[in-house]
This record gives sequence, C-alpha cells and structure tokens, in this order.
Amino acid sequence: MLPFERYCCGGRKLLGPPCMGDGTARHGYGPPVFEQCGTSCTYCGRELGAPYESWLDFSVDHVVPASTVRALDYPGEWVSDIANLVTCCRACNEFLNGYRVTEPVPKDLHAFFDLRDRVFREKRQHALERHEREREWHAKWRQRQAGDETAA
Ligand SMILES: [Zn+2]
Repeated sequence: MLPFERYCCGGRKLLGPPCMGDGTARHGYGPPVFEQCGTSCTYCGRELGAPYESWLDFSVDHVVPASTVRALDYPGEWVSDIANLVTCCRACNEFLNGYRVTEPVPKDLHAFFDLRDRVFREKRQHALERHEREREWHAKWRQRQAGDETAA
C-alpha cells in the first residue's frame, strides 16, 4: 500500500506547500505532512511520534527530489506540494540523500503522481536494503566491542 492513499483526495490532487513555520520539520513544515501521512517513517516503518528520542528523528522527505526543480525544470509547485512529501526518519532521509530522478518533466500532474508512486516504491526498497547492510555493520561492531571488553 502507498502512503498517499490516505492523503486527502487519495494523494492525487495538489494540497499546497506546507507552511514553513520556523523552518524545522518538527515545529514548522512537518506537522501538515504528518497529518496526511501519519507519524511512522514511510520507508522503514519506525514510529516517530513517541518517545521523545524518536520524535527528535522526525523528518520530511520529498519523494520526487527537490533537486529536480533546478536540474530538470520540474514545476516547484508540484515538487514542494504536500502530496509529494512523506514522513521519514532521519536515517532513511540520510540513506536516500543521493537518490536522483533523471526522467524529463512529466507531461501533466497525473503523470507526475504516477512517477511519484514509482519513485516511492524504489526509494522504499533502497532504504530497506541500506538498513539491512547497516544492521549487519552494527552487529559486527557490537561483536568487536564485546571482544575488546573480554580482552581487556
Ligand atoms: Zn525510516
């Protein structure tokens, strides 16, 4: 299931850009996105509303990346719209930082939303694979730490 299905109008209509507020995800532009998208990371599923330490990891991801506006001339009002934004944890946001879209500008809003849905699936797959690799790295790191403690 795609997160956009729960958005106003099934996520197939522009909802306007979020109010920037103080420019942070937690206080400013995030809450209107969380209202549509919920409080779990849409990529890895982690709940971010509580406890406090999780709430600190709240962030918002442009599914079709903001870089498409300058690099490929995508309309800013499509890319920065709430319908293109999802709730995301800081780790997934970092993992997806280098993700680029190379498609030319979609011919209309309908095609843009189709692209958004496809990009979302790809990014979710990519984020889950990155978590898998990171988890293995973490397990090895813990093992080494435990080994060091035994040796000491
Ligand atoms: Zn995540």
